Amino acid sequence: MAATALHFLGVGSASAATLGPSAAVVEQAQQPMLLIDCGPGVVNAHNAAYQQLPAAVFITHLHMDHVAGLETLFYASRTLQPAQQPRLYVPVTLVAALHARLAEFPNLLAEGGANFWDVLRLVPVSDNFWLGDVRFEVFPVRHHAPYAAYGLSLRGRFVYTGDTRPIPEMLTRYAAAGEVVFHDCAPTANPSHTGLEDLSREYAGSILKRMVLYHYPDEATAERYEQAGFRVARAGERIAVGSVRER
Ligand SMILES: [Zn+2]
Ligand SMILES: [Zn+2]
Repeated sequence: MAATALHFLGVGSASAATLGPSAAVVEQAQQPMLLIDCGPGVVNAHNAAYQQLPAAVFITHLHMDHVAGLETLFYASRTLQPAQQPRLYVPVTLVAALHARLAEFPNLLAEGGANFWDVLRLVPVSDNFWLGDVRFEVFPVRHHAPYAAYGLSLRGRFVYTGDTRPIPEMLTRYAAAGEVVFHDCAPTANPSHTGLEDLSREYAGSILKRMVLYHYPDEATAERYEQAGFRVARAGERIAVGSVRER
């Protein structure tokens, strides 16, 4: 597989004012392959970075900081040829709620004549999906309710946790081959998110040294994480995952 990187379009939490909602593009040979999450403003950020709309989007869960931009994507993609319209990879357990959240809105077009799923081509996914010749794996994480949020993994390359409490049992399986682990981190632990103090208690050192933290409220918090010895993703940063990287 060609050189792979994760390009963070945003790294913020739902309360972040300036960091952009957390979203990352899986790049192969510097080309965008898969957008992970699509919060408000993410479609414009993707356009600015690549001069094109995302062709494939994976959704980790349905909080608005992760899906609100799909409405923008719907309107922006409406005039594309059907073969060019984006594919939307959604864990199958989330499909009904995503439909209720975005697709049931009456009269998406004032003049009528279009359904949400006419434009965004839905691909329900269970524990894995193919994108070209690349196989991504999908696994449930711990965020608000069972089977309400999912992580994404590419064996030997990376694991992206999405929003979650600690999931050591999942990383034992999905980060067992030297993967870079992109992990949600809030300044303090709470029922919704992993906190900085959770990390060293829940994870082995071999995982911690491959971790890159994201989904935080502000730059001062990022600096605090760095002082605690962690690598932190910044908005606009590309992080290579083409080979095992040890700190
Ligand atoms: Zn979030
Ligand atoms: Zn969330």
